[in-house]
Amino acid sequence: MAAPTDADKQIRYLAAALKAPRIVETAARLADQARDAGWTFEDYLAAVLDREVSARNASGAQLRIRAAGLPAVKTLEEFDFDTQPGVRPQIAALASCGFLHEARNVVLLGPPGTGKTHLATGLGVAAARHGHRVLFATATDRVTRLTDAHRNARLPAELTRLRRYPLIIIDEVGYLPFEQDAANLFFQLVSSRYERASLILTSNLPFSSWGAVFGDQAVAAAMIDRIVHHADVLTLKGASYRLRSAGIDSLPSIRTTAEPPPA
Ligand code: ADP
Ligand code: MG
Repeated sequence: MAAPTDADKQIRYLAAALKAPRIVETAARLADQARDAGWTFEDYLAAVLDREVSARNASGAQLRIRAAGLPAVKTLEEFDFDTQPGVRPQIAALASCGFLHEARNVVLLGPPGTGKTHLATGLGVAAARHGHRVLFATATDRVTRLTDAHRNARLPAELTRLRRYPLIIIDEVGYLPFEQDAANLFFQLVSSRYERASLILTSNLPFSSWGAVFGDQAVAAAMIDRIVHHADVLTLKGASYRLRSAGIDSLPSIRTTAEPPPA
């Protein structure tokens, strides 16, 4: 390799001053390519800057994905829409994350194993890639944290902190019923984000059963009203993907759909 020229040394110094040390390697590599292909100076500069911006966005996305607390990183690209053709157009529209700018919500409903957590996570990854901060928790975990904050007289501060996340994902609403205090805290979270920041909620129960989860029909109705006012509600159907991949069609004893018995 040739000894570094004065220009190389200067690039090294200036890249460090810009806190963009990657530029040293990109500039050298692209300079060879530019000479071979006869690029203009402008083409070369644009290519170097483009590599730097892409690398920064990718590492920012990785940080946001790690900070989100996802149970597993699942992407929308990994989802097999042939099993859920009904939601394909809606997910395709949501994937560009425009809903976050409008503080709209997404609700994923459906029986166990139909891909609710996968799609919620995939939308979270898409949001992180689009530059948004994301936070994931199960309903039980989120309510436990809100309860802690409330006990320490920090609830308003906690709700303000959570509002700095354009997207909060709450998985498994209705998996466990809430005590009355917990239900009220959940309601406050929904109210504090209403028309200000987005929520993605998943539940294996239809809205009509949420009264039982929250222990109070009026609280549940007021909450559902705020959630769905600006929301996409996606209903997943069919057998569990987990059972399908295990070669089992269905487990009749845990069927959650209210289908009439076969004639
Ligand atoms: P739910 O939250 O509805 O119970 P999950 O999203 O956890 O279901 O899905 C169960 C498992 O099956 C996960 O590992 C998920 O990645 C996988 N899965 C479900 N549906 C699909 C699908 N359509 N394509 C690919 N993987 C899927
Ligand atoms: Mg799930």
